[in-house]
Amino acid sequence: MRRVGVAGALAKTSADVPAMGGDGRQIALPRSDLDQLRASIRGLVLLPGNEGYEQARKVWNGSFDRRPAIIVRCAGAADVIETVRFAAAHGPLLAVRAGGHSMSGQSVCEGGLMLDLSMMRGVRIDPLQQVAYVQPGSLLGEFDREAQSFGLATTAGTVSHTGVAGLTLGGGFGRLSRSYGLTCDNLRSVDVIPASGKFTVANARENPELFWGVRGGGGNFGVVTSFEYQLRPTRSMMVGGALIYPFSQARELLKFYADFARAAPDELWIEPAIVPTSDGSREVVFSVCYSGEPSDAEAALRPLRAFRKPNKDHVGPARYIDLQTSSDEVFAYGRCYYVKQGFLERIQPELVDVVVEHIERTQPALVVGFLHLGGAQSRVAAAATAFPHRNAQHGILLASIWSDRSESAARIDTARSSWRVIEPYVRGFYVNDVTADHTQQTISENYGSNFARLLALKRKYDPHNLFRLNANVPPNG
Ligand code: FAD
Repeated sequence: MRRVGVAGALAKTSADVPAMGGDGRQIALPRSDLDQLRASIRGLVLLPGNEGYEQARKVWNGSFDRRPAIIVRCAGAADVIETVRFAAAHGPLLAVRAGGHSMSGQSVCEGGLMLDLSMMRGVRIDPLQQVAYVQPGSLLGEFDREAQSFGLATTAGTVSHTGVAGLTLGGGFGRLSRSYGLTCDNLRSVDVIPASGKFTVANARENPELFWGVRGGGGNFGVVTSFEYQLRPTRSMMVGGALIYPFSQARELLKFYADFARAAPDELWIEPAIVPTSDGSREVVFSVCYSGEPSDAEAALRPLRAFRKPNKDHVGPARYIDLQTSSDEVFAYGRCYYVKQGFLERIQPELVDVVVEHIERTQPALVVGFLHLGGAQSRVAAAATAFPHRNAQHGILLASIWSDRSESAARIDTARSSWRVIEPYVRGFYVNDVTADHTQQTISENYGSNFARLLALKRKYDPHNLFRLNANVPPNG
């Protein structure tokens, strides 16, 4: 209560606003400059105690209960320019929030400035050119729905309330990436506001090096205020759903899957996960999407169905946008999450043995899933965009999900010790799954041979590391 009282008073006084600097030092944001910022934007400047502040600071991962000193809710690119200039002039710790799905809570910061793009939600489809113009606060489900109403789509992630912006800037894979490549491979152009506050267009003709960097380099170089995507004709009815097997078959199924998935056509996306069930046991759930001719789906899945008959077979004709929302509840907004992920060039039988044995022995309250990558996204050269992990045919991911924050330490501890068993097998990680456990050296090395180019871009577009809450490329190398 006291906290709210003090915050409320601060919102009303003319005192300077104490804030956390990007370098960790305490700073004061001059009230007159804040008032000027408020007067110059169409959106909202919220301080603790202001109406809407409590709602605006919430992000997808309920583990992060952080209180920014200021939240600027931008209504358009002009607001972003003003806010970036304000941040560059005064140096608060800056968090950029789009869909708010950062696994590690990087889109909200304690005591800093949260630049909130979630009011910028426009999606415009040009069906003749098969192009989409998407504002950065848009969610994948909004983008999918607009594009599908014209029989179009591009690669999106597998949970529809994820943000388009963060996903694209880190790479972006999902049900269609084996056919269409990563989301960032389908990007045609972006508008970016770098640390200078200067509106900058980046595409194959204008600022091509920056365009290269935003495709996998995350939010390191500035705030993207518009995304332009190439869309593709995409059927609305596909074949998809889940095949469910008993956990007792996990070893043989996952070893079979390793070869089956490798030989699968690009149109087949199939991801197995070992999932705890409500009766305290586990099952193996294969999520399926076949995006090619529906009549070919049966043949594509036949080897798996013939290998072991599933307990439950829920695979059949399904609308693409329904498949895209089918995992939304499992990863509902506001619960607590801890996720670890790594890439795999192949699923070695030894890894399967290690994972299944670990689960049998320790019974961790975790979901362990394999990503199905490869296909078109692997036929792009590692240096063609900043996303370097083109050889990865799979990823492995573990997720702990809970609701009571008092369980957080124990949950994270369990997930970390389970990850220690898996970690020796992975080669790099997805920048969008960066965690506080990753050291700066690991993050820099994860960009592989693309790091030197990213560093040069960082020095040009963000020399003082204003945009540091990401898989950071520090300008000092
Ligand atoms: P936010 O939390 O808003 O932003 C994350 C970070 O991105 C920010 O900290 C900032 O550094 C940067 N950023 C965001 N917007 C901008 C911008 N406009 N300009 C500059 N920088 C910006 N990824 C996949 O590829 N495929 C999946 O299938 C997939 N599934 C997921 C499912 C769930 C439930 C979740 C939580 C995540 C999933 N992800 C997936 C990971 C996802 O790509 C990242 O969490 C991504 O960061 C989400 O974007 P956002 O805009 O919602 O995030």
